Amino acid sequence: MLGPVILAASRSDRMRRLISAAPVTRPVVDRFIPGESVDDIIPVIRDLTGNGLEVTMDVVGEDITTPEQATAARDAYLELIGRLAELELGTRAEMSVKLSMFGQALPGGHELAFANVRPVVEAAAAIGTTVTLDAEDHTTLDSMFAVHEELRKDFPQTGCVIQAYLFRTEDDARRLAANGSRVRLVKGAYKEPASVAYQQKHEIDKAYVRILKVLMEGEGYPMIGSHDPRLITIAQELARRAGRKPAEYEFQMLYGIRGDEHLRLAAEGHRMRVYTAYGTDWYGYFMRRLAEKPANLQFFVRSMVSKG
Ligand SMILES: Cc1cc2nc3c(=O)[nH]c(=O)nc-3n(C[C@H](O)[C@H](O)[C@H](O)COP(=O)(O)OP(=O)(O)OC[C@H]3O[C@@H](n4cnc5c(N)ncnc54)[C@H](O)[C@@H]3O)c2cc1C
Repeated sequence: MLGPVILAASRSDRMRRLISAAPVTRPVVDRFIPGESVDDIIPVIRDLTGNGLEVTMDVVGEDITTPEQATAARDAYLELIGRLAELELGTRAEMSVKLSMFGQALPGGHELAFANVRPVVEAAAAIGTTVTLDAEDHTTLDSMFAVHEELRKDFPQTGCVIQAYLFRTEDDARRLAANGSRVRLVKGAYKEPASVAYQQKHEIDKAYVRILKVLMEGEGYPMIGSHDPRLITIAQELARRAGRKPAEYEFQMLYGIRGDEHLRLAAEGHRMRVYTAYGTDWYGYFMRRLAEKPANLQFFVRSMVSKG
């Protein structure tokens, strides 16, 4: 029951100020967001890729309120891509972006987000890599899919994310699988109403398997975004049945969650990509990680009590 409460708190400005300013918060945050600047994160990327893993990089920040912040978000990604160029990792280091950070929720937001994300996709392509559009709350998705479709005209490798908890997702998966997209399937991390999304874990898990089957049997490139051991095993079986080789799909997990499993899957010969977030505006991302596993909250509160 705690998950929805934490997700509601993730939208509260008061909680944002309280938690962001708490002196003991940062060490707890570091588990999920291992740096604030590009200089912090380059050694982390070297470390992960040196261990046979791949990365998708997220500059954290959402809920922006001005077009200038959207431009700054674009520039932060361009700075990162400039630094990645030196590492020559190609597709082993790609970018994940949230269109909200590029201005999607501002007036004229759809066009603004497209105008800001396109140079990032272009710059990524110029160093031989790609961008994946993250999925945010359900009200943003039509715009995200439209931006994705437009970007794919010039950059067909651009990926997008779909969320198993939404009723609409099976249809989205069919469309994307038929047109050969790179698609990351996740369970879904936002607080969604019962009118649009499954609420029970077992229903979400069943939907995940149905949708994954569509992706595996389709023409695209499935990216399995989950830490759930049962779903990882099922994904391997579905890939085998669909005749896919290890290079024809990949696993993705979040930095700081089940790190041993990252290494185990990579050692087995799977492509294993670690979603690695960094930056100063980490509140929304951090709160979603707490909501996914309430034990994280207990750990967080304990650290505040013992050090505060
Ligand atoms: C690469 C990647 C990208 C993502 N992108 C998006 C996106 O664009 N949009 C979106 O809505 N969601 C996104 N998510 C989040 C996703 O929707 C889920 O909220 C999250 O992955 C938890 O679901 P799970 O599949 O891991 O299964 P769960 O059943 O939640 O977890 C399975 C097991 O994994 C471990 N675990 C899971 N989460 C945590 C945690 N926070 N802390 C500690 N242990 C944990 C636990 O051991 C748990 O028992 C992404 C997830 C991944 C892995």
